[in-house]
Amino acid sequence: MKLTGWGRFPVVETQLRAPRDVAALQAMVTGDEPVIARGNGRSYGDSAVGTHTTLDMRHFDHMLSFDAETGVLVAEAGVLLGDVIDAFLPRGWFPMVTPGTKFVTLGGAIAADVHGKNHHVDGSFGTCVDWIDLMGPDGQIRRISRDDDADLFRHTLGGMGLTGVIVRTAIRLRPVETAWINQTTLPAPDLGTAMDLFEQHAHVPYSVAWIDCMSRGAHLGRSLVMLGDHAKRADLDAKKARTPLDAGHKGALSVPFDFPGFALNRWSVRAFNELYYRVGAWKPTKALVDWDTYFYPLDAVLKWNRIYGRRGFAQFQCVLPLDTARAGLTELLEAIAEAGAGSFLAVLKRFGPQDSAFSFPMEGYTLALDFPMKPHTLPLLDLLDAIAVTHGGRFYLAKDSRMRPDTLREADSRADEFEALREARGLKDHFASAQSERLSL
Ligand SMILES: Cc1cc2nc3c(=O)[nH]c(=O)nc-3n(C[C@H](O)[C@H](O)[C@H](O)COP(=O)(O)OP(=O)(O)OC[C@H]3O[C@@H](n4cnc5c(N)ncnc54)[C@H](O)[C@@H]3O)c2cc1C
Repeated sequence: MKLTGWGRFPVVETQLRAPRDVAALQAMVTGDEPVIARGNGRSYGDSAVGTHTTLDMRHFDHMLSFDAETGVLVAEAGVLLGDVIDAFLPRGWFPMVTPGTKFVTLGGAIAADVHGKNHHVDGSFGTCVDWIDLMGPDGQIRRISRDDDADLFRHTLGGMGLTGVIVRTAIRLRPVETAWINQTTLPAPDLGTAMDLFEQHAHVPYSVAWIDCMSRGAHLGRSLVMLGDHAKRADLDAKKARTPLDAGHKGALSVPFDFPGFALNRWSVRAFNELYYRVGAWKPTKALVDWDTYFYPLDAVLKWNRIYGRRGFAQFQCVLPLDTARAGLTELLEAIAEAGAGSFLAVLKRFGPQDSAFSFPMEGYTLALDFPMKPHTLPLLDLLDAIAVTHGGRFYLAKDSRMRPDTLREADSRADEFEALREARGLKDHFASAQSERLSL
């Protein structure tokens, strides 16, 4: 069958299999052809699609135990982060780290070592993972952790499914008093101000900026910086304080059909961005918002990837080290504005320090944005890659669908080490995705 990631590009012919238990999984992993695990398909490109066999892990969806003293949850890899929230927020627990969608599996969150708006304070998803039960090429499950086979554990965080199949894991949740977030919105008229705001508010747990990437000149990098923190019970009014861990349930809209290609153009995107900035700059700067609205605004529109039409879209996400971030981001934003190709969603975050084997984050600034697949898109993305590499940046494989192998190696010397580990442990012939083949991992 034909399968894609969330960006609907590229389309890959694969055999999709959905094992229901460990024995079935073992039989598939030890077969003749390479396999790759797939969670909920929320990575954008071809990392969760095999050119031979793709293993849909969503039947592995049981939560196995929870320790109410320590907040440690043991669960199968196909459990969605949203299900963890539904089960444990009412008891006062929330994920330590969450990406911008709750529709990711625990296996997918570990394999991409996802980051949230709190990376500068709490690090990436790996920091809350105590151990992983990983199925190797021989079909055996081994428990790996910081103490047991630390090398394999470290490479499995961010290893994009290429070190084996994650079957179960133990993760630590964070205690929270309420289901509400204290949010502060700060308008920034240009990139420099936005970055200064991140630095000034480095102690605030959550921060993210939405960037208007169509604006140029003095307004280059015009943004809304959004800060957040878990509200305490004392922050709620009497009505909300009666059920502090229940913020109510919002419905979700769904995009019913693929948008036609002409719907997204530089004028519609510019108009949207202008409006968004003005409304954001005009709204009250402080607000109490429910957890779902704060962390997952995009989830309110299901299947929103259809807005980009049948040709799909590509996301560009790089991280630039602190010392080059200002110059590098300016150059990236200038190239994007020049091409008139910006998207609705350009997001800037400040990462804190991270020392890892193959995960994406490092201390600096990360910029992420979508581009509809049009004839000029791939050359523009190559140009953005080159700018990022010149400034010492590297790229997020969970978002990639088209990078060249030499670009990956220019940007990230750890790729050779990762490949060597795969070869030494006999993983390379067993676990392969369309992405790992394209990038020669
Ligand atoms: C709207 C939206 C917002 C996002 N925001 C963020 C963000 O803020 N921060 C961020 O870091 N990411 C973000 N992402 C990306 C997303 O968090 C990652 O792509 C995540 O890996 C998706 O999880 P998944 O379960 O859908 O995995 P898939 O997309 O199915 O797989 C992703 C990778 O994990 C591997 N994998 C999946 N399950 C297993 C398993 N059981 N064993 C071994 N390997 C496995 C796959 O082989 C693949 O390499 C966002 C994505 C979307 C769509």
